[in-house]
Amino acid sequence: MQIRYYLLFSFSSIHEYQEALNQGSLSCRDTVMYYLERIHRLDHLNAFVHLYEKESLEKADKLDADRKAGKKKGRLHGVVIGIKDVICYKDHPATAGSHILNGFHSLYHSTAVERLIQEGAIIIGHLNCDEFAMGSSNENSVYGRVRNALDPEKVPGGSSGGSAVAVQASLCMISLGSDTGGSVRQPADFCGVIGLKPTYGRISRYGLIAYASSFDQIGIFGRNIPDIGLILEIISGFDPRDATSSRKPVPSFEKGLRIKAQGLRPENGHRSSLNGFRIAVFKEALDHPSLDPEIRAKLIDFIGDLRLKGHQVEEISFDLMDYIVPAYYILTTAEASSNLSRFDGVRYGHRTLDPKAGYPEFYQKTRSEGFGKEVKRRILLGTFVLSAGYYEAYFSKAQKVRRILIERTKLIFNEFDLILSPTVPSTAFKSGEKSSDPVSMYLADLYTVYANLVGIPGISLPLFTHTNGMPFGIQAMTNQFHELSLLQFASELTQQFKSFEIPTL
Ligand code: GLN
Repeated sequence: MQIRYYLLFSFSSIHEYQEALNQGSLSCRDTVMYYLERIHRLDHLNAFVHLYEKESLEKADKLDADRKAGKKKGRLHGVVIGIKDVICYKDHPATAGSHILNGFHSLYHSTAVERLIQEGAIIIGHLNCDEFAMGSSNENSVYGRVRNALDPEKVPGGSSGGSAVAVQASLCMISLGSDTGGSVRQPADFCGVIGLKPTYGRISRYGLIAYASSFDQIGIFGRNIPDIGLILEIISGFDPRDATSSRKPVPSFEKGLRIKAQGLRPENGHRSSLNGFRIAVFKEALDHPSLDPEIRAKLIDFIGDLRLKGHQVEEISFDLMDYIVPAYYILTTAEASSNLSRFDGVRYGHRTLDPKAGYPEFYQKTRSEGFGKEVKRRILLGTFVLSAGYYEAYFSKAQKVRRILIERTKLIFNEFDLILSPTVPSTAFKSGEKSSDPVSMYLADLYTVYANLVGIPGISLPLFTHTNGMPFGIQAMTNQFHELSLLQFASELTQQFKSFEIPTL
């Protein structure tokens, strides 16, 4: 039986999949069976932490029956989606890769999940991640590390490593992750898939377990740009339950991408030329000592190609580069120390079993037992930078840096449509290689944290293969709420360049 599912199905896009469903050559049940078989067979990747096998099949049967009965179909009819373990799905576990949330079940849907379900998506399971989304290698999870499907000795990136591998290894069609400083774009780069972090406020954070609330944003992993556009369109938009969600209208990304394919540019800045994008590349990003020379050389070639295709690419100086990672780690650890104070053993998950623990030992024991090493490090660091005497020296200074970065970014987008950079300074590294050196681990975020500091959207496109055999790509960023331009640009690149290839297993 399994062979039948295996042979019948291969996923290339939501559109083609739904065509096949409509023609009757495939059913949602076949599709879910296909993914379940792969998830079990590739279990060593450790991508899923909770699998919703029975209910996914039931949902598939319901969708199949509805379709046969001619009922109106949602836009995500039968689309099989995995979600990161920080995204709430009512009556299902929500544990953020942490022992402290052991046994906790979500009481409500996150807005993103609610919108996916309303359109007929099948949520197949929760995906592994670094504890509370803190990490760049998915080695900080209570469920153990996730393996990169291209080389299981290597990390998949983090913190949404399970979400990246699930798409990389065809364990689901689309996955959701969260991106506070690169956790969607960096693992997408390490795994050779596409990863989008939208503008801060584009997607409601309601039901997303908080790491650093002024940075967090739900992001999307997929294999092609139209799929990512469609999912973005569905889960974006104002939500009264998240005061930071934007009231800006959500364009039809799906339609915008079709128009672009016909050669029109519906959402260009008033200074854009019709033929090409005005693209800025930071000199300091290209010249950074931690950048792998081969990635650098490829990017320089790539810039040449872009110029030949009619884009205007300019190297500009960005002298704030060295402040980005320190400002990010001061501000996010400060926010985390406050956000994570709610996990005290009284309201959620793990509670110490020591019967003698009174006040305040009860809290100390619960939190010492419940949190892992990296989370503890960040809570301590965040508490320190907020404490009297150090607040001015660290937190307040980092906030000033953030303000300066935002102002500088505004000026850049007066002149340019897009900023281009590597996504990560290196390709996926060996598991354990950076575990004992947090500073070198933090440097993996060099190119991605900027977008979160200033709230702009960024996408990672896996355009190249390194001579070490691992994928790597480029990161493109636009001004706030210009996701349509970003997707149009991405779509052009992924069509134009023959080297674009998503590895399949
Ligand atoms: N690697 C970064 C960190 O550890 C980013 C995490 C994220 O985006 N959630 O903070």
